[in-house]
Amino acid sequence: MGVSFCRFVGVREHFGLLLQTRHQQSDYKFVIQNHQHQRTILFMRILLVEDETKLAEYLCAGLTEDGFVVDVANTGVDGLHLALETEYDALILDRMLPGIDGMALLSALRSKKSTPVLMLTARGSLEDRVSGLQGGADDYLVKPFAFSELVARLQALVRRSKSDAQNSAKTVKLEIADLEVDLARRKALRSGQRLDLTAKEFTLLVLFMRRQGEVLSRTEL
Ligand code: CA
Repeated sequence: MGVSFCRFVGVREHFGLLLQTRHQQSDYKFVIQNHQHQRTILFMRILLVEDETKLAEYLCAGLTEDGFVVDVANTGVDGLHLALETEYDALILDRMLPGIDGMALLSALRSKKSTPVLMLTARGSLEDRVSGLQGGADDYLVKPFAFSELVARLQALVRRSKSDAQNSAKTVKLEIADLEVDLARRKALRSGQRLDLTAKEFTLLVLFMRRQGEVLSRTEL
């Protein structure tokens, strides 16, 4: 497989002694000790799919130096396999790849997963950018680009996707005083005691909790 890994390169140099590692889904959590203090750092795990070896090496080295954990795939087939099998915080995806190209990879990925994708391409026409975004890319960067812009866009992408995930997790549960509604399990609790509600009553309760303080008309109910 044309896959190379350059995880962890630079991390030790940066932070000194590695005390403990723990793998939690997409997050690599390290407790790192330097001479003054201990700190915990969460690394972002990135998959780079790029067939230009020199560029892939340069980006991988730079991103690793910046604290990202990077896997590199040099073909679309390897990239798709890794993207489907592994939880990444984001993908950097070259559009022009031999075999499965970037757009085909993206479309296969999007049928299964919503991992954020930053697409890289030498093609910068408006139609190319639009088709990339419509194909499911979250952002687009035209070659040649500045490395600092790539990092800034990557960080923004991961930040957005994490805050979206947190927001959707928040909306699964509603709480007002001692009243708690679990939307995923369709369960309502008052002071920890389960309320026996009909489907209609449950729906009304959710509506009242979501629109708390508002006067609702009969048609809205
Ligand atoms: Ca290419």
